[in-house]
Amino acid sequence: MLEVNAFENAMRQLEEVNSFLNLPGNIYEQLKAPQKFLEVSIPVKMDDGTVKVFQGFRSQFNDARGPFKGGIRFHPEVNVSEVKALSAWMTWKTAVVNIPLGGGKGGIIVDPKMLSENELERLARGYIRAIYQVIGPEKDVPAPDVNTNPKIMGWMMDEYEKITGRHLPGVITGKPLSIGGSKAREYSTAQGAVYVLEEAVKKMGLNKEGLTVGIQGFGNAGSHMGKILQKAGYKITVVSDSTCSVYNPMGLDMEAVWSHKVNTGSVGQCQGAEDKDQNFIFDCATDILIPAALENAITMENVAGINSKLIVELANGPITPEADKVLYEKGIVVVPDILANAGGVAVSYFEQVQNSYGYYWDEDHVLKRLERIMRTSFDESWELKNKYKTSLRFGAYALAVKRVADAMVDRGWG
Ligand code: GLU
Repeated sequence: MLEVNAFENAMRQLEEVNSFLNLPGNIYEQLKAPQKFLEVSIPVKMDDGTVKVFQGFRSQFNDARGPFKGGIRFHPEVNVSEVKALSAWMTWKTAVVNIPLGGGKGGIIVDPKMLSENELERLARGYIRAIYQVIGPEKDVPAPDVNTNPKIMGWMMDEYEKITGRHLPGVITGKPLSIGGSKAREYSTAQGAVYVLEEAVKKMGLNKEGLTVGIQGFGNAGSHMGKILQKAGYKITVVSDSTCSVYNPMGLDMEAVWSHKVNTGSVGQCQGAEDKDQNFIFDCATDILIPAALENAITMENVAGINSKLIVELANGPITPEADKVLYEKGIVVVPDILANAGGVAVSYFEQVQNSYGYYWDEDHVLKRLERIMRTSFDESWELKNKYKTSLRFGAYALAVKRVADAMVDRGWG
């Protein structure tokens, strides 16, 4: 993952979209770096009494359309370039679904599996103490990302409220339901991706019955997506995680694979499935491929083997720009991350709205609004793809980047 510089990739995508958007030069210049980047050291008292210092980041890319918004990632390979790239992608993501928020991202270099629950809580609270001055419901609103979850969001919100002495649940989203979380937030990234997948299937004139699906990465987003798709009648024939792929040409039972993964820590050796190596997922020609893990999963090294009709990027940045070109030339439709996985942040926005009103919606109410947002954004991106004769990625980018640039111009930043 490290050999590809994620922020350089993000900037190349911006350059490409600018080739047909022709942004005012003064605006483009300001989109080449985050507005603010914070690096912090977080001392954590470990269970054995020693103090370990962890490195954390918060990148605030652009807030022309509203407060910075984006998750916090706990991962040993978190780095400056990655956090900056993810914060740029969040900026386009909130814009593509047209919610009044900007883009940011945070991360801590840590393997959370190596920490006890108490150590993890002290790390989460320490991170908030280190960055609390730059976040807030009207400044920058974090959320879960890779290896972070509602429980961690709960600790973080509590720490922020303790420091400020006020109830401000809108400081963070993806919280547990008992303390201001939103119904459907837990599976909203996957649900949103299913809505756009359905739109793509329709637009491409595919017959949904019997379409096979492969899911690369079986964490929160990937497993929820698998379960929803299976219920909708798709056949998930292969899923993979960081250890291997598991395959059944007749279709895997997503609930069974998920409980096996929860119990054993891996999808490998799951009943009713054959173990394959990790890369098998890319070579087995499912009709639909869903990268749902980390950045740079599909590169020049493995793109040649990919023969799906449709790729839906549930992960952020899973395809390198070079590999993306190859897929486009092969005629494979890619629903890009900023559109495909925007359901998570859309429901985060609904969570904030509910927090500020102190009035909570039922699940149906959330899902109806999510569905409308996702289908509309897909249609708008598809139209621009046709208008500019480009890929769906750059259709979505054109929509998003133009919205950000317009907000900047209207603020007089040009
Ligand atoms: N981490 C998620 C993403 O990459 C959600 C962000 C949010 O809800 O703010 O979109």
